[in-house]
Amino acid sequence: NAPFPAVRIRDEFPVFRHHPDLIYLDNAATTHKPLAVLDAERDFYETANANVHRAAHRLGSAATDAFEGARHRIATHLNAAHADEVIFTRGTTEAINLAANSWGRANLRPGDVILASVLEHHANIVPWQLVAQQTGAVVRPIPLGADGNIDPAAFGALLTAEVRLVALTHCSNATGVLPPLQPMIAAAKAAGARVLIDGAQGIAHAGVDVRALGADFYAFSGHKVYGPTGVGVLWARRELLAHMPPWQGGGEMIDRVSFDGTTFAEPPFRFEAGTPPIAQAVGLAAALDWLDRHDRPALLAHETALRDRFEAGLQSLDGIRILGAGTARGPITALAFDRVHPYDVAQFLDGYGVAVRVGQHCAGPLHQWLGLNGSLRASFAAYNTGADVDAALAALATTLDMLA
Ligand code: PMP
Repeated sequence: NAPFPAVRIRDEFPVFRHHPDLIYLDNAATTHKPLAVLDAERDFYETANANVHRAAHRLGSAATDAFEGARHRIATHLNAAHADEVIFTRGTTEAINLAANSWGRANLRPGDVILASVLEHHANIVPWQLVAQQTGAVVRPIPLGADGNIDPAAFGALLTAEVRLVALTHCSNATGVLPPLQPMIAAAKAAGARVLIDGAQGIAHAGVDVRALGADFYAFSGHKVYGPTGVGVLWARRELLAHMPPWQGGGEMIDRVSFDGTTFAEPPFRFEAGTPPIAQAVGLAAALDWLDRHDRPALLAHETALRDRFEAGLQSLDGIRILGAGTARGPITALAFDRVHPYDVAQFLDGYGVAVRVGQHCAGPLHQWLGLNGSLRASFAAYNTGADVDAALAALATTLDMLA
């Protein structure tokens, strides 16, 4: 297989023209956008901007075609059976809130159990806690084993008849740990539970085939997969969506409104109240098209090789621990330091043009389990190169020398 052409691909990202020395290793927070995405959004605004679904004029039809066309292309990328299984949201957070508020409030009863792993981002914990408070259900953590991955035996023991939903990340945003999704989804389904996968960190690397995955819900954000901010997707199977009530009210989501009672539109529109993120949806479809034009296995191999090069270079530095080092991980390296504070390290790295993330990364329970106040995270994407990694390692070595 040909190696991934990261150096050439970097030229497609205008941010590096404005910041030629930027070593951007904060891709798990958000990725930069290729020209294909910027052009698609701009082209939409220039040629087809109007509100969707109701205009009687030609621009309204053009906007609707662009928006619904984006839905179809995203469904194809996900290998969804139907385009109407793709619901546009503001991002992963809103997608999970939609599932929790619509499916959760309709289906959860006192005593029901929601399982969420200790790896989860707050976005896949707090919405379930809120709906649990309203319904009398309880949220229980799926514990981790010593390797920092989910403990399958503990998960098996938690899968009782009361479990209605299992909330799992495709890839930990904090440590990059990849839970054993397939066996966990199969076990959860066999126990009669629904499964929601938080794909915010998964989709950009390994990609996803929602039908092969076998979960009930898959949520992701555009901005972490080379697309725009302000748009994300909740995918769910058609049969499931058909029985889910609306969660936000307004225009677009209704069938007929009267003060005597209102009826609601079919999915996906039932879940898309108000003007949707139209240009952003077009941009997201362009981002997924852009990804589909590349050799995905080569991209993942490239990102993984960058992570491994970074981690190999860390071996010559003292007082650093790689979190979750002994288990399967995506292209993310999270570090704990013995003698220095991660915030200080990140500040110094910024002085060398190296952008990393520091803190708890919205994964409080994981950091409590790790016994850390914070960690430092480097995360890799298509446009990163070996030179980025080497510069980051050199900056880190100098920083540790200065701080120690
Ligand atoms: N889940 C995971 C695993 C994430 O990494 C993030 C973003 N950090 C989110 C959920 C929330 O995504 P957003 O802020 O785009 O809604």
